[in-house]
Amino acid sequence: MPSIGVFALQGDVREHLQTLTALGADAFSVRRPSELERCDGLVLPGGESTTMAKLARTFELLEPLRARVREGMPTFGTCAGMIMLADRIEGGTADQETIGGLDVTVRRNAFGRQVDSFEADLPFAGLADPVHAVFIRAPWVERTGPDVEVLAQSQGHPVAVRQGHLMATSFHPEVDGDGRVHRYFLDIVG
Ligand code: GLN
Repeated sequence: MPSIGVFALQGDVREHLQTLTALGADAFSVRRPSELERCDGLVLPGGESTTMAKLARTFELLEPLRARVREGMPTFGTCAGMIMLADRIEGGTADQETIGGLDVTVRRNAFGRQVDSFEADLPFAGLADPVHAVFIRAPWVERTGPDVEVLAQSQGHPVAVRQGHLMATSFHPEVDGDGRVHRYFLDIVG
């Protein structure tokens, strides 16, 4: 049973814990470096990426997170978590930090103000049937590096990507999902 942490200083933690537990993982909240050390894999939830980065810095988790991601810990970022994994951000605040590791440029709040949230059924690479995707003030991926595989798109923009041990979705698979996207991540954890 893999030990999967969910970053829990800010954001939408509970549904991820429930989904991962239902899939048979040992899922727990991560708020301190000792909890991060226990992780075979990590989920970075949706929420507010600027706040998330500041809290990670304040609670001395940002550098340990960077180190674990660099060393190859499988990590799955959803929405704000996608922003946290991105090497480059557009529409961020001037001093906004990320964990990085994913060779993408992510545009924050990309789908625009009028459409704060929407839902769509999207084909997802490797999954037989479309995934029900809930977008909430979501980013999209503006540019991808050569090692990044696009798993799903919406409105012509990548909204799910993978680069080796790293995976990110613009949408919230923990909301109204059927577990297949989390299962995809658990398969990466192995
Ligand atoms: N707009 C948020 C941000 O920039 C992300 C929204 C979300 O995670 N649902 O951090």
